[in-house]
Amino acid sequence: VKVLLVGGGGREDALGWKIAQSPELSKLYLAPGGPRLNHIGERLSISDGDIEALADFAAEKALDLVVVGPEAPLAAGLGDALRERGVPCFGPDRAAAKLESSKGFMKEVCAAAGAPTASYGRFSDAEPAKAFLREQTAPYVIKADGLAAGKGVVIAETLQDADSAVDEMLGGKFGDASAEVVIEEFMEGEEASFFAITDGENIVPMIAAQDHKRAYDGDEGPNTGGMGAYSPAPVFTGTVYERTMKQLIEPVVAEMKKRGTPYVGVLYAGLMIKDEQPRLVEFNARFGDPECQLLMRRMRSDLLPLLYRAATGQLKGAAIDWSDDAAALVVMAADGYPGAYKKGSEIKNVDKAEDLPGVIVFHAGTKEEDGKLLANGGRVLNVTATGADIREAVTRAYAGVEAIDWPGGFYRKDIGWRALGGAS
Ligand code: ATP
Repeated sequence: VKVLLVGGGGREDALGWKIAQSPELSKLYLAPGGPRLNHIGERLSISDGDIEALADFAAEKALDLVVVGPEAPLAAGLGDALRERGVPCFGPDRAAAKLESSKGFMKEVCAAAGAPTASYGRFSDAEPAKAFLREQTAPYVIKADGLAAGKGVVIAETLQDADSAVDEMLGGKFGDASAEVVIEEFMEGEEASFFAITDGENIVPMIAAQDHKRAYDGDEGPNTGGMGAYSPAPVFTGTVYERTMKQLIEPVVAEMKKRGTPYVGVLYAGLMIKDEQPRLVEFNARFGDPECQLLMRRMRSDLLPLLYRAATGQLKGAAIDWSDDAAALVVMAADGYPGAYKKGSEIKNVDKAEDLPGVIVFHAGTKEEDGKLLANGGRVLNVTATGADIREAVTRAYAGVEAIDWPGGFYRKDIGWRALGGAS
């Protein structure tokens, strides 16, 4: 199987690492990959945003499969461009990727499918939005409809702040992405992410993980793309799993098919769980980063045939074998992240970390230059470890972090605190 993997973060490093273990892989192309993967596969000079050039390349080389890591190329129509050229794509068409790229659309599909989520209103004018806010109780949840790189959600304690958020968003803070806003009921509970692979009709459930979005210990500080994660998620019990599949994933996949826009790829459900009842916070049209890295660490089955079967409508009867081991991940980020940060500082001893039991270090934002490994992003390294339970996995991941010599970075010291039963 000849594969093109699109994306170059920690998620794609983990996907590529897993795909490369498949006996079915004959050739791996990367757009752009990273230092680990570029030793395994061939790096293309096409950017992951150049949809037409990627699709043309895939068609010319008669690739068997394109695996799309990030959401932006999907929302821009890479799935459509590939399918038009007859190239199987793991990742939805633009119309189905709207489950992530339009929160209003996601809400509409949930309503049609009867999937549990927060009650809401959808507005393109400030006046009715503010009138709706006055029918709600604090805290108020205001979201830009479109993709805003995780920054398009405001949770306001006062009506005044809520009104300002509405004015800013509808006033063009995120351009087209906030031409509409969604105002939602605030949901109480504990968050977890759950993943399922689908070919548009058949569904293969995956597993759940929990991440830490805030930059600093104690879940303090600014929001980030995620500073660490662990799997399994203790809050995701068997009952929660059954309800998530029956009430959410299955009806939504069926609804998308019914609309003539079947969803192909991995469906990521961000859940709020209270009293074992999951409710949907958001859908994402791709694997979570950093959760994907944990899924890859815990997956025993060969990933490549699953992705291929999903992309070609042949997922019926497929199942995934998971390790009972837990997995944990600690992000090492550049000083200053998620604000301004410097690139180019040298990182040493990644190999020493990987000599430790259970440890694998995924590259989220690094580059190789003159034989040196340099920081090249905000989130730079993902130190993962497996272990008999979350405690052991976390301990091993931190041993990996300690082994790495990188004065230019920082990391949270309390990853997994909720699962480990302690206050942060
Ligand atoms: P990201 O993709 O970075 O998670 P996003 O911009 O897609 O962010 P959401 O996931 O919808 O936004 O919301 C971000 C966070 O805000 C959620 O992870 C959750 O903690 C909180 N949140 C969102 N909606 C609600 C809600 N209705 N009730 C309570 N908390 C919420």
